[in-house]
Amino acid sequence: MLRRPLLGGLFGQGEFELATQPTISNGLHAVRFLVIQPRAGRVLAIAESKTEALAGARRVLRATHAANDEPRWVQPRLWSDAELSVVAAEPPPRPVSRRRREVFVRSGGCCHYCGTPQRIDGAWHVEHQLPRALGGTDEALNLVAACERCNLQKSDRTALEFLCAQGSRR
Ligand SMILES: [Zn+2]
Repeated sequence: MLRRPLLGGLFGQGEFELATQPTISNGLHAVRFLVIQPRAGRVLAIAESKTEALAGARRVLRATHAANDEPRWVQPRLWSDAELSVVAAEPPPRPVSRRRREVFVRSGGCCHYCGTPQRIDGAWHVEHQLPRALGGTDEALNLVAACERCNLQKSDRTALEFLCAQGSRR
């Protein structure tokens, strides 16, 4: 999870932070945004867009402030557009091809062989269960996600041969 302080305002720097967390939404690579208050250990809002997360957080804070009878002018100073553009300057996720995305989703986001969770834009391999050397095709059913280690160890063996060899070594 990436965290950045939300700058400025009378709440003090870093009292509120915008966190981003990679997630999978409808099989697509997505990011969700959380506005957190680290010192209080609380999450103010979670949303799929930064704007929504901030709007949600503002609503929560506004309600809190209304309950505590604090002056309303405190709120608009929180997170001006200029301040938010600093927060937004995060590197975009690496583009993932449609085929890799499909393979990733079908493999449940994990290495098909050892079950290690992978990042969709990570270095995992599109693996041929029946190797091309043995006549395996690029059809969807023959393709799974595999971590680098499993892919290299499996090499030109079939998925079954590889899994049996793994089993006998344990
Ligand atoms: Zn693996």
